[in-house]
Amino acid sequence: MDIKRIMREHGIKADKRLGQHFLMDEAPIAAMIQAAELNDDDGVLEIGPGLGVLTVKLCERAGKVVAVEKDRDLIPVLKKITRDFKNICVIKEDVLKLDLELLKDRYFDSSFKVVANLPYYITSPIIMKMVQNRHLVELAVVMVQKEVARRLNALPGGKDYGILSIAVQLYADVDIVCEVGKDAFMPPPKVDSAVVRIRLKQRPQVMMEDEALFFKVVEAAFGERRKTVRNALKGRLVLPGISPDKIDGALERAGIDPTRRGETLSIQEFARLASALRQ
Ligand code: SAM
Repeated sequence: MDIKRIMREHGIKADKRLGQHFLMDEAPIAAMIQAAELNDDDGVLEIGPGLGVLTVKLCERAGKVVAVEKDRDLIPVLKKITRDFKNICVIKEDVLKLDLELLKDRYFDSSFKVVANLPYYITSPIIMKMVQNRHLVELAVVMVQKEVARRLNALPGGKDYGILSIAVQLYADVDIVCEVGKDAFMPPPKVDSAVVRIRLKQRPQVMMEDEALFFKVVEAAFGERRKTVRNALKGRLVLPGISPDKIDGALERAGIDPTRRGETLSIQEFARLASALRQ
């Protein structure tokens, strides 16, 4: 598809406030389609279909495609571009307001996949929405900023490892499918991009009694990345019934060296620490 021509013919100017950077390069589109492992039975939610470059390929490969676009000006173009397909439904809606349970009941028989070149200004809320709805979303293949891709699959100890890495990896396996340069888009974004595949799981990587406490511990540890885990927790962990002097004992029971920095702790270690704090 000639994106520049479509934009010219329909008088469309990319709206940067909506994160509009339309894909022009075929290679990342093909990589996304392949990574999504599509077959005729699959239902796919596409977030932000834009001018439909990816949508058309999804329609060719999946059973049903629901494309949710916030920009009303793009809807007629999108409908025209996908008019030959019977398995597409275009919805004008803000994805963050979308009720995924209702979407499933209305359009898909069972859980579905998400394939999208995401609007970068809302990448994290969209990814967290998918994690929260992991009983509905089985797999997501999404284009994100390269820096976010690195955070999503970061391991403990590196500068990219943080709350987003833990929140996603607790319930998903993440792999980077390919990196994509700025010139693949019209207009080019300021940052490089990458396609990630997120395989969601129903059960967390580590079973735990109190997930809210786990995340409070994680937030406290990353709130002061330069401090030792002991000092970060003493300074930031505010919990009823847990005074700072209980933190040393909990670290010891969890088998964690208190002089380590929080960013070196694995998900398993954070879970052990949260469990020790409950005792
Ligand atoms: N899929 C197209 C492509 O690859 O060329 C467009 C991708 S562009 C990076 C992001 C798209 O998300 C734009 O079409 C934009 O209008 C849409 N968008 C932005 N915010 C949205 C929201 N809250 N809900 C749904 N779509 C949104």
